[in-house]
Amino acid sequence: MIEAEHLIFEYPGVRALDDVGFYVRSGEIAALVGPNGAGKTTLLRCLAALDRPLAGSMRVAEVDVLARPRACHRRVGYLADFYGLYEELTVRQCLIYVARAHGIVGDALLTGVTQTAARLGIADRIEQKVRTLSRGLRQRVAIAQALVHGPEVLLLDEPASGLDPEARHLLAQLFVQLQREGMTLLVSSHILAELQEYATTMLILRRGRIVEYETVEPSARESATVRLILSAPFASLSMLLAEIDGVTQVSIEPDGARFLYRGDPVAQHELLKTLIEHGVPVSSFAQEKVNLQDAYLSQLRRPGADVAP
Ligand code: ATP
Repeated sequence: MIEAEHLIFEYPGVRALDDVGFYVRSGEIAALVGPNGAGKTTLLRCLAALDRPLAGSMRVAEVDVLARPRACHRRVGYLADFYGLYEELTVRQCLIYVARAHGIVGDALLTGVTQTAARLGIADRIEQKVRTLSRGLRQRVAIAQALVHGPEVLLLDEPASGLDPEARHLLAQLFVQLQREGMTLLVSSHILAELQEYATTMLILRRGRIVEYETVEPSARESATVRLILSAPFASLSMLLAEIDGVTQVSIEPDGARFLYRGDPVAQHELLKTLIEHGVPVSSFAQEKVNLQDAYLSQLRRPGADVAP
């Protein structure tokens, strides 16, 4: 649904995108992460047909972005990092204004505005002036503006910045709801703990290059490092663990072991039972979740990383 190949973008004296290529499948929520200045905003603006790269190609919702930027605007919703809202307009007026700018008129305009307000949970505020709304609600109005023309792809630049934890959680739920309705989302964010709630894929951008592409399938989200602590040494622990299905990357430690285990809670219960049945003196069996934050930080700490997260 979103594809980029060999993208190069330069500001005077700065190469912001340096041979960027990636794809996002239909129905995914892809997280775009990276340190400040990595090129996230530039990439999103190029995909939204708002900036033109020096070289490369992009297809979004089956539209060649460079050849048909207007068609791209119709199929893509974009929320800028620092968006502006017309403070003196009501929510309804804001949505009508943006829908009309996209060429939507007549019945389609009225239903589009009503449905989008309902979808975003702001229907009860529709006659309220924007300046009277809380930050969380303003964010929803801004996202409603990005959605009102019925795009297939949503590009969001730091949508959760400045929101309180509850508003962020509601936003995460909204993204999942939009995904269920068939939308594809690319969301840039610094708040990795929240991306974990909804992202299915993670793209890491560093110094204008995609340095990692990870699929965060639900099963992968469940993959965990297990930390096992024993009350007394157990000589054949390493051998025993090696024989257990689903256990990998065993590292024996002075007081026990640490290993990767892929399995649901029932499988974990069976694993613990097996250990105890074999006489392993388990005093603690705890799961350390592998999460996006770990993946991101380990990527940034690799040789060549020049920017602290
Ligand atoms: P942040 O997380 O801080 O928003 P970002 O990953 O979105 O950063 P960009 O804003 O795309 O990164 O910037 C990429 C690079 O391009 C940076 O080095 C930035 O300083 C530079 N840059 C961005 N906009 C301009 C501009 N208008 N003129 C010159 N350089 C720019």
